[in-house]
Amino acid sequence: SFLESIGGMLGVAVSNSLLYEETRRLALHDPLTGLANKRLLDIELNRNSVLARRCGRPFSCVMLDIDHFKAYNDRFGHVAGDQMLQSVARVIRISIRESDFVARYGGEEFIILLPRAEAEGVLRKAEALRQRFEREVISSGFENLQITVSIGLAHYPQGGTTAETLISSTDKALYRAKETGRNRI
Ligand code: GH3
Ligand code: MG
Ligand code: MG
Repeated sequence: SFLESIGGMLGVAVSNSLLYEETRRLALHDPLTGLANKRLLDIELNRNSVLARRCGRPFSCVMLDIDHFKAYNDRFGHVAGDQMLQSVARVIRISIRESDFVARYGGEEFIILLPRAEAEGVLRKAEALRQRFEREVISSGFENLQITVSIGLAHYPQGGTTAETLISSTDKALYRAKETGRNRI
């Protein structure tokens, strides 16, 4: 009976720990796309900023926004829009390295953190991603339609040295991409 009660306690401990892990996963990820959510992005951004300041390990912040997505929703409905968002998330995830980080930042905005220094490399990566969307027909399960994306990017430290200033620079860059015609970086 002693072993039985120990076993019972261990069982409770294990299930509590599994429950904790599951709660943590739910709190830090977006249910629609399975990507990291804004909360986890904030944690990662701060971690990257601290590492950059302390260890001189720069990184880049890339913000991607689907062009005219409201029109897509209006035309095909929100269920199709949701499926499109899932497809876009999948395309981003398979286009980046495992060591890169991607989050769903807002409705149809995604942020990628690239732990890389050289601006040209990051620009090349972002351009490849933009072209991939331009070239490939993204299947939303409803209507196979071409979408394009606009991208803003900023590098640590030129674009900012804190999570807030970097996001703000990236956001401004994205706004310029939209303003000057969309489907561009
Ligand atoms: P722009 O080219 O300037 O980015 O135009 P836009 O229409 O993409 O941008 P806007 O910010 O005006 O609209 C974003 C739209 O994204 C609004 C909403 O219909 C849609 N959206 C946001 N979140 C979701 C979501 O979770 N599911 C679906 N289906 N649509 C969403
Ligand atoms: Mg948009
Ligand atoms: Mg938007």
